Amino acid sequence: MVKAIVGANWGDEGKGKITDMLAQQSDVVIRFQGGANAGHTIICDYGKFSLHLLPSGVFYPHTTNIIGNGVALNVNSLVKELKHLADGGVPTPNLLISERAQILMPYHVLFDAYEEERLGGKAFGSTKSGIAPFYSDKYAKNGIQVADLTDPQRLRTRLDYVCQLKNVMLEHLYHKPLLDVDALYDELMAAREIILPYIADTTTFIHNAIREGKTILLEGQLGSMKDPDLGIYPFTTSSHTVAGFGCVGACIPPHELKDIICVTKAYSSSVGSHAEPFVCEITGTEGEELRRRGGDAGEYGATTGRPRRVGWFDAVATKYGCAVQGATEVALTCLDVLGYLDEIKVVVGYEIDGEVTDIFPVPARLGRAKPVYATLPGWKSDVRGCTDYDALPEQAKAYVDFLEQQIGFPITMVSTGPKRSEMTHRAAKL
Ligand code: GDP
Repeated sequence: MVKAIVGANWGDEGKGKITDMLAQQSDVVIRFQGGANAGHTIICDYGKFSLHLLPSGVFYPHTTNIIGNGVALNVNSLVKELKHLADGGVPTPNLLISERAQILMPYHVLFDAYEEERLGGKAFGSTKSGIAPFYSDKYAKNGIQVADLTDPQRLRTRLDYVCQLKNVMLEHLYHKPLLDVDALYDELMAAREIILPYIADTTTFIHNAIREGKTILLEGQLGSMKDPDLGIYPFTTSSHTVAGFGCVGACIPPHELKDIICVTKAYSSSVGSHAEPFVCEITGTEGEELRRRGGDAGEYGATTGRPRRVGWFDAVATKYGCAVQGATEVALTCLDVLGYLDEIKVVVGYEIDGEVTDIFPVPARLGRAKPVYATLPGWKSDVRGCTDYDALPEQAKAYVDFLEQQIGFPITMVSTGPKRSEMTHRAAKL
């Protein structure tokens, strides 16, 4: 049985907590895309941890955690995260790294920073963790696979070739110091010593696990809006954030993906740059208040530390976000955050060039969209920690019913706080 947990929106939907809940019941947890450029916050028996690259099953001794072939493997980040866990008293996790995963190189991080510097005010708001240069190299066939580390001669040849290309750009476009192939080679050899014990044929491992009826969890990073094909390009990330990509990035047979849990927040938030279209945005003191009330959930991205932009729930974006994920169920998080509001708005349409639509537009039209709102009564009470859906105030349940109707996908979980236990289960009405 393969499940996926993915985001319906701009990332930071609260996937970490749901993933952690389900990771506990999973035999295998797999990261299939992205790298250490985003993260989630997990509050478990060992304390509070920020995970960026490691799968969320690392807290459980019965779980095998896999860094799939679709992931950008930053070895330094991996070492830091393993230390973060060890320092927090977490036993050494069961970890496998796909031999087909590619290595995020130090020059990817440099190129990311140099490109942002070159673009100046027109930058896309990269996290500067090297993700865009990494995936560009992968698809241009200039990447280094983990398995290349086991063949020094092949590695050296590939490095010579790649550095030749990089150095032309460093010299003539960025005017920065050139790469030293020998130093890079030595660095990779040191990395090899660290990751060697984890390298595995994860394709065979995963296919065997499926055959043995194991419970497998695909853990997505970011959300639909950040998918380079289906999101708000170019304000996207550089790997596919949709569940379907798990079939490539973790080599899951498509027919095995049975449950796709799409996570969305009861309001919107985005850590993207201010140039990025964010139709549902709440600005000024109203926005500041929501960001502050969001606390942990609202203020800063787990990886970037950037203050998030906040907005009303965007049913147009979320309906589309769930559709492109192929959601089989929806988890709504952070309902507790809205308890202070007299009235709550929901974006139910976009007005573009005088016409109202509920279909999420392509990026070329998105910048012209203006929100059309519905307004619902608030519940004016603190529901944090509630574990019984029926016990929620009527207005809170009516709000959830309304969102479900608008997005057209069944909401089965409603989260009422950051802790794993702060969760209610709901019988969907669709
Ligand atoms: P991800 O990028 O989707 O994995 O986002 P995170 O898991 O990092 O979640 C963002 C923040 O929301 C974290 O600080 C979580 O602890 C917090 N969070 C998750 N669910 C809830 C919830 O239901 N209520 C509140 N108040 N915070 C939540």
